[in-house]
Amino acid sequence: MEVVFAIPRVEWRVFVPELDESLVPVLDEVTRRNPGELEFHQAVREVLESLGPVVAKHPEYADAEVIRRLCEPERQIIFRVPWTDDAGRVQLNRGFRVEFNSALGPYKGGLRFHPSVYLGIVKFLGFEQIFKNSLSGLPIGGGKGGSDFDPKGRSEAEVMRFCQSFMTELFRHLGEHTDVPAGDTGVGQREIGYLFGQYKRITNRYESGVVTGKGLTWGGSQVRTEATGYGTVFFVDEMLCAAGDSFEGKQVLVSGSGNVALYAIEKVHQLGGRVITCSDSSGYVVDSTGIDLDLLKEVKNGHRGRVSDYAERRGATARFVSDGAVWQVPGEIALPCATQNELDVDSAKRLVANGCSIVAEGANMPTTPDAIRVLRGAGVRFAPGKAVNAGGVATSALEMQQNASRDSWSFEHTEERLAEIMRSIHDRCLETAEEYGTPGDYVAGANIAGFTKVADAMLALGLI
Ligand code: NDP
Repeated sequence: MEVVFAIPRVEWRVFVPELDESLVPVLDEVTRRNPGELEFHQAVREVLESLGPVVAKHPEYADAEVIRRLCEPERQIIFRVPWTDDAGRVQLNRGFRVEFNSALGPYKGGLRFHPSVYLGIVKFLGFEQIFKNSLSGLPIGGGKGGSDFDPKGRSEAEVMRFCQSFMTELFRHLGEHTDVPAGDTGVGQREIGYLFGQYKRITNRYESGVVTGKGLTWGGSQVRTEATGYGTVFFVDEMLCAAGDSFEGKQVLVSGSGNVALYAIEKVHQLGGRVITCSDSSGYVVDSTGIDLDLLKEVKNGHRGRVSDYAERRGATARFVSDGAVWQVPGEIALPCATQNELDVDSAKRLVANGCSIVAEGANMPTTPDAIRVLRGAGVRFAPGKAVNAGGVATSALEMQQNASRDSWSFEHTEERLAEIMRSIHDRCLETAEEYGTPGDYVAGANIAGFTKVADAMLALGLI
C-alpha cells in the first residue's frame, strides 16, 4: 500500500520528564501503600513527573501536603455482587467505586465491566479522571468504578440481573450532588438503562442527574454516545490547526472498535481524513480504501461481532491480521482508542520509522511510559488521554446541566459546545506548557493545568 505523508515535520522542544527530588517520597509512599497496583503507580508517576516546576513555583502546595492528599482517594468502596445465571447457578463478582476527589464537584466518572478490573485499574482510572474533569472546565470531581464481570457471551437477562445486583449495593453511595457514574468499557446505554432502572426502583426517585449516558427518551443528551470519539478528533484537529495543517487527505490509524473508536473514525472521515485500521482483542483489520463505518457499526453494534467478521464481509480491500497491533501499519496520525498499555516501545519505534507525526490518546493511558519517551524523543507530537478524551465526561456534564434545567439541546448545539470545550482544553494545555517553560508539551500542559485547579480548590476548602 502506498502512503503519501503530507504533514511537514514541526520542530517542537521535547521535554524528557524527570521526577523532581521533592516528589520521590510521594511516589514511594503511593507504591508502598498500594502494593501490586501497577497501573495506579504508573498513572501517578506520569502526573508527578510534570509537577516539578509547579512545586518550585508554589511552595504552598507542599506545605499543605496537597499532592500526597490528592494521591489518596477520599473513599474506596468494594462490594460483593451475587447474581444468578440463566441456568439458575449463583455467580459472584466484585464491584468497586473509588470516589477519588470532590474538590471541584460531585465525583464523576464511568463504570467499567471487564474481567481485568481490580482495584488498581479503578484507581488509575479514577486518578486520571480528577485531572481530566478539572481540564474540562466543568464543576465535577473525579471517581471511577466497575466490576470484574464479563458481559461478553452473557444473555440480556443475565446482564440485567448483574446490573440490578450491582446497583442494589452501589445506590447508597450515589446522588446527583454526590457521585454520578457513566459508562466505560463494557458499559453502554443498555447497562446504564438497567442500572438507572434499579436506582429508580430502590429510591423511588426519578433522579435523572444520577447517571449519565442515558437514552434520549429518558434523560440522555444528544452527542453523548459520540462525544469521546468526536472530542478526540476535535482535539487533534486543534493540534493540526496549530501547525497550520488539517485532516484533509491524512491516513489515520485507529485501534479498537468500541464506542470511542467508532466515533473517532466517523469524525475523521467527516473532516476529510481516512482511517485505515481498527481492531479488537482478537486482532486488527487494515482496509486500504478506508474503513466502511456503516459496515463496522452493523458488525459491532448490530451483531456484537468481531473485526474479523468485518474483514470477511468487506471483501478484497480489507485484511484481518490475528497477531500484532495496528501500529505496524504506516499512517500519519495514530489514535489509540482501545485499552491501557496497548502501544508499547516496539510499536512506538515502528510508528516513528513510518513517519507518524501525531499520537493522541482516545483511550485511557494506552501508551506505555517508555513508548511515550520514544515518541517524544523523536519529535512526534504526543497528547495524553486526560486531555484528548475529555469530551466524553464533558458531554456527561452537559447532560447533567440539561437534566438540572429539564432542558434538552439539539445535536448541533451540543456538538458545538463539545467542539468549544475541546478547543479550550487544547489551548489551556499549550498555554500552561508555555507558562511553565515547556512549550508544545501537551503532557506537561494537561497535567499542570488539571492539577493546579484542583490543588487551589483543595487549599480553599481547608483540611478535609
Ligand atoms: P468499548 O468496550 O466500547 O471498546 C473497547 C474496544 O477495545 C473493543 O473493541 C475491544 O475489543 C478493544 N480492545 C480491548 N482490548 C484490546 C486489545 N488488547 N487490543 C486491541 N483491542 C482491544 O470501550 P470504549 O470504547 O468505551 O473505551 C475505550 C477506551 O477509552 C478505554 O480506555 C476507556 O477507559 C476510554 N474512555 C472511554 C470513554 C467513553 O465515553 N466510552 C470516555 C473516556 C475514555 P474486544 O471487544 O475484543 O474486547
